[in-house]
Amino acid sequence: MKFSPEFIKKIPKTDLHLHLDGSLRLKTLIETAKRLKIELPSYTEDGMRDLVFKDRYKDLGEYLHGFKYTCAVLRDLEVMEQVSYELAVDNYNEGVRYFEARFAPQLMMDGAALTMEEVFSACHKGFERAKKEFNAKDEVVKEQAPHYDYGIISCAMRMFGPKGFSPYYNKFYEAHTFSTQIEVLKMGAQEMVRGAVRVRDTLGLPIVAIDLAGQEAGYPAEYFREAYDYAHEHFMHKTVHAGEAYGAESIFQAIRDLHADRLGHGYYLFDVNKIEDTLIQDREDYINHLCEYIAEKRITIEVCLTSNMQTNPDLKNLKDHSFKEMLARKISCTLCTDNRLISNTTVTKEMLLATENFEIDTSALMDLCVYGLKRSFFHGTYLQKRSYVRSVTSYFKKIAQEHNVSFSS
Ligand SMILES: [Zn+2]
Repeated sequence: MKFSPEFIKKIPKTDLHLHLDGSLRLKTLIETAKRLKIELPSYTEDGMRDLVFKDRYKDLGEYLHGFKYTCAVLRDLEVMEQVSYELAVDNYNEGVRYFEARFAPQLMMDGAALTMEEVFSACHKGFERAKKEFNAKDEVVKEQAPHYDYGIISCAMRMFGPKGFSPYYNKFYEAHTFSTQIEVLKMGAQEMVRGAVRVRDTLGLPIVAIDLAGQEAGYPAEYFREAYDYAHEHFMHKTVHAGEAYGAESIFQAIRDLHADRLGHGYYLFDVNKIEDTLIQDREDYINHLCEYIAEKRITIEVCLTSNMQTNPDLKNLKDHSFKEMLARKISCTLCTDNRLISNTTVTKEMLLATENFEIDTSALMDLCVYGLKRSFFHGTYLQKRSYVRSVTSYFKKIAQEHNVSFSS
């Protein structure tokens, strides 16, 4: 079914897979880089779009290249706060009513000079300012529209090297001369999760979950079991980038070893050729069992269509995206941007792409919006979450009525 861009923009949406450091306004990146004397390959928006933030990338490596510049400017608390505020404003202005932004704090940190508490607090301050502004609007105060809220997800990096990732990681390697790289990576993740729990509990910030980001190939989920166990034991939610580069067994590892409540991408879930484990004899049977498990447990897949198109050279036509099969199997899915700047997208654009390329009627569209909130890691109580879901559902129906969009297909 086709829906108008105005309608899609108005409906209450969520974005649960959104990297803060991939979602800066380009103008802000350029202006702050100039001010902080950070070298960029170009200081014009067109130049940066030509050289760094492209429509299509050669591979994941090229896609990830832009983070070098965005992380560099974010190692400044004022910029962190400004970028967070602008991100919350941009989301609100395109009808997002709840989002979860994620980043790896250790990429921004510089040990004692820039601590985890400071980095998270600056981000929270920016989000909170936008939230208060929008929640003071008449329609929200009168409960005619859902309120605006957010959560922060703290990422561990699957891989970071001894040089060039961040001042903090450089020091981390220097302090662990006698450990192997894998040991350093495991310790880095454990330190992150302990810090995230501490900041949540002492400063009361809505750090709602942890994530595992970065290069999937060569760095399996099992390395990060202790870090995720710690999160699990401290009632922190868990999402994992899985099935972006690897297949079903990597997705199952995230669920089995890391207790994943949600999965980032899950793109290769159905691809028998992506299964490398030779102990799995009947691959189709394995995938079917796994899909049933994911569907039954309502483990939600954070689908990022544009990003997948940009990083998978094999995926030429969006209609071939595994989202089609996820919808057919009624797996809980939510549409996300991944990176607003690097993928040059918005939730509205992602929803338009989805409705133009897949069989999505009005109630399926409403499900996509509502699942986003139902399967969010909302920081309030369960009862508050239920009433939030109810307000989003009735607001969706109101907007549908105003745009003469019917529910019978
Ligand atoms: Zn991602």
